[in-house]
Amino acid sequence: MLILLNLDAPRKDIDAIEQKVKKQNCTPHEIPGESNLAIGITGPTHNLVEGDFRFMNSVLDVVRVSKKYKLVSRQMKANDTLIKTKYGEIGGKELTIIAGPCSVESRDQIFRVAEELAKLGIKFLRGGAYKPRSSPYAFRGLKEEGLKLLDEVKKEFNLGIVTEVLSPDTIPLVNEVADIIQIGARNMQNFTLLDEVGKISTPILLKRGLSATVEDLLLSAEYILAQGNFNVILCERGIRTFETSTRNTLDLNAVPVVKKHSHLPIIVDPSHGIGIRDKVSPMALAGIAAGADGLIIEVHHDPDNALSDGNQSLTLNQFEHLYNKAKLLAPIVDKEIN
Ligand code: PEP
Ligand code: MN
Repeated sequence: MLILLNLDAPRKDIDAIEQKVKKQNCTPHEIPGESNLAIGITGPTHNLVEGDFRFMNSVLDVVRVSKKYKLVSRQMKANDTLIKTKYGEIGGKELTIIAGPCSVESRDQIFRVAEELAKLGIKFLRGGAYKPRSSPYAFRGLKEEGLKLLDEVKKEFNLGIVTEVLSPDTIPLVNEVADIIQIGARNMQNFTLLDEVGKISTPILLKRGLSATVEDLLLSAEYILAQGNFNVILCERGIRTFETSTRNTLDLNAVPVVKKHSHLPIIVDPSHGIGIRDKVSPMALAGIAAGADGLIIEVHHDPDNALSDGNQSLTLNQFEHLYNKAKLLAPIVDKEIN
């Protein structure tokens, strides 16, 4: 349920509504919008009677939210969510470009890639310290050592860090370094992890699971918002289909569909989406054309010798070409790259 109030509703009116909500074991979430203050209500909302709220002071309207997901829905919040970080905003006019290697491999590697990306004007560096791998024998990341290197490289080149968390116990460590914390495709439905990242305020990049529907993705995002963290960025990174000519099938349909049903920003990962180096750039451009708020792209100074996902990592040179094209394309879809 959603209760709409005047933007200038006095605190005592808001408190009276929230107390009434809590009495029925439901949880109120204040969602400031452009023209209204909304109180989104989650929990056993069937206990609530609309008429009990409709005539309370400052109330403009009471709306039942029909979708399974509530706080992430456009019904709850009509205007796009803008996620603010020290390194730039996500979900506004600026197209967010996150680039970097799949994994942090060594000091030399991460510094070389970061230096070149910083020279181009990239604001966010990606790099996994904890890596979820299909095989337990594959390189699983430098872990704490990787986080230390990310911290050093961040300070050296003033880049926002995007890195993955795999388990609740490492959230505090990852959170010290990350400006955006990634929840990977394999953990999209790790509900304990979603609950825990919901309790911090760092932006969360939530990647779509390999066999998750768009509704599943939005329901997973709902877990994070329900705990109080409204800073969620969704990511389309390809799904498993019967098609075997590419690693995954990048479902760009998800972009306009998410935009219709949710106020959260969505970015596209063409690297995992197609999985083949020389086909990443066209799909990256297609992602922009589809209306994405940004891209996350794997880039490596020596992809043929990368410890993970080398086959889909762009060389620095390929990335620069793509970046220049992205700058030209962005204005066509009302975006810009500064
Ligand atoms: C990654 O970003 O390197 C990664 C493991 O992504 P995904 O979870 O989408 O497979
Ligand atoms: Mn990867």
